[in-house]
Amino acid sequence: MTAAGPTLRVHAVEPRSRANGPGTRFVVWVQGCTLGCPGCFNPGTHDATAGRDVEVAELLAQLAASGAEGLTVSGGEPLEQAAGVLALLRGARAQGRSTLVFSGFALDELRARPLGPEIIAELDVLIDGRYVARERLGVGLRGSANQQVRLLTDRYAEADIAAVPEAEVRIGPDGAVVLSGVAPLPLRRR
Ligand code: SF4
Repeated sequence: MTAAGPTLRVHAVEPRSRANGPGTRFVVWVQGCTLGCPGCFNPGTHDATAGRDVEVAELLAQLAASGAEGLTVSGGEPLEQAAGVLALLRGARAQGRSTLVFSGFALDELRARPLGPEIIAELDVLIDGRYVARERLGVGLRGSANQQVRLLTDRYAEADIAAVPEAEVRIGPDGAVVLSGVAPLPLRRR
């Protein structure tokens, strides 16, 4: 009997998004965040007991099937599930996908967290920092002006980030409307 692989507590998955990083992206919104930014767009992701457990291997199989250019991990707070996120990022890179993480932790905080340096080493793009409502921005992948987009490899240029739409609307087969991106309208957001 083989040991179970790493899992992630997941809020939602979108196989092909264009508003959560450059190109087409497989997006995983993790479940659970303790940072409590006032005005957070995703309060439904805060409760770490909500959502569902998904094996990282299953997410990687979905990523491979999606044909997406890259993986984006958002939340919720990815660094509060560091082991699972690290396994997911490594698996994505092994598939040749680009990697991007949205974290509410600032870069210095990330470096000091368990597995923080290892996660940073697996990223092409990091957007870091709390959401600060009074500095609301909503362009270039930044929810607020204090956040920074860090190009950690040469895979993308600033023009690639600037070309990402601020929001997208997806209408599911059941008619449900889901809005995502950094400048969503007041609809349900992932
Ligand atoms: S870090 Fe992100 S998910 Fe967590 S409270 Fe802040 S904006 Fe919301």
